[in-house]
Amino acid sequence: MAQDAATSGRFGTCCTELREVMAGEDFEPLVTEGDDGVLYFAVGLVDLEEDEPGMVDHPLYFCPFCGTRLQTEEEVQAKSEANDEDDE
Ligand SMILES: [Zn+2]
Repeated sequence: MAQDAATSGRFGTCCTELREVMAGEDFEPLVTEGDDGVLYFAVGLVDLEEDEPGMVDHPLYFCPFCGTRLQTEEEVQAKSEANDEDDE
């Protein structure tokens, strides 16, 4: 365990709990940073037509462990909009 902030950017720096979840060494974390740089957490599973169930995720604004604000609604909106443009 000699990884610092280099692991996945700025999320997971507020407390050990979130850092360990983000590292996901022993399990598949339900809190993940999306391609758009927004931190999401899985709120449930949905049955798709395909074999594997899909994850329903939602932006995570506050750390569930220590309550630190991780991102704001404005940041999430800006990031996802910027990402939409990148895709085209
Ligand atoms: Zn935290």
